[in-house]
Amino acid sequence: MDLISPRFKGNEYLKKVASNAVVLERGNIGNSVHLVQQALLDLGYNLPSGSDGVFGSDTEKAIKVFQKNIPKAVPKIDGIVNEATISALDKLLPTYEYCVRLNLFFIHRPQVSLNILMDCTKEVYAQYGIRIDKVSEKDLVLNKVQKSRFFTISTACDWEYNKGEAFQLLSLVISYPSSEISTVFIRKAKTYSGCGGHITGHPACIVDANPNKWTPAHEIGHVLLTESFSPVHSGNTKNIMHSTQTYYPLTPILSNKQLIQIRQHPCCTKIR
Ligand SMILES: [Zn+2]
Repeated sequence: MDLISPRFKGNEYLKKVASNAVVLERGNIGNSVHLVQQALLDLGYNLPSGSDGVFGSDTEKAIKVFQKNIPKAVPKIDGIVNEATISALDKLLPTYEYCVRLNLFFIHRPQVSLNILMDCTKEVYAQYGIRIDKVSEKDLVLNKVQKSRFFTISTACDWEYNKGEAFQLLSLVISYPSSEISTVFIRKAKTYSGCGGHITGHPACIVDANPNKWTPAHEIGHVLLTESFSPVHSGNTKNIMHSTQTYYPLTPILSNKQLIQIRQHPCCTKIR
């Protein structure tokens, strides 16, 4: 059976569960476990340890409760995620529940393909039912003075800009609604590969021409988490908000606390 939920359909292991080739059970770890746990949490099931990617006794219990609630779809209450269980979960979360709208602006096209950057950004947030919509894409036409001014952004990354190069740069894109995030791709920043700081009330982030493929997802994370979220960077190397932004072997995740805050941001609109 093909999975339809945007949360599950990109996960190779869950695809195998859905085709009855393998199961997910107590003792398993990894992103597929994380995705199932997050789905259970979003459906209101109790998981004290959150979506930690570890299939322990709490997850087994929650799966059993879930199976009891859908006896027709799942014949056996065994706490094992088999084809029938994943299919039932999949059907309950068939679409995205939130969306984040992005306007992309280019001073300089990034060296990493834009499709890869967008796909990676979508992949991170799809795990949580959040759809990333690119609503516009525009090359910024600069005059001579602006070109030399914005050749390299020297301003350090900060939460708020009310002066300096970054402020001038972001002033070029503030005509967009404050419920959408502007992402400006620049040639080079002196001190960062991306920065989620922006002019107050105008959500935006800056990404330089040489990002890693997860940088836009990370910077958009900063915008959505806002200055009030602590810690700014996660200590978990699997988390998209880890400071090193290295190339993760698996899709980077969000913590429950980060997810709650992100879903409350005005740019994260509920669509279902
Ligand atoms: Zn950061």
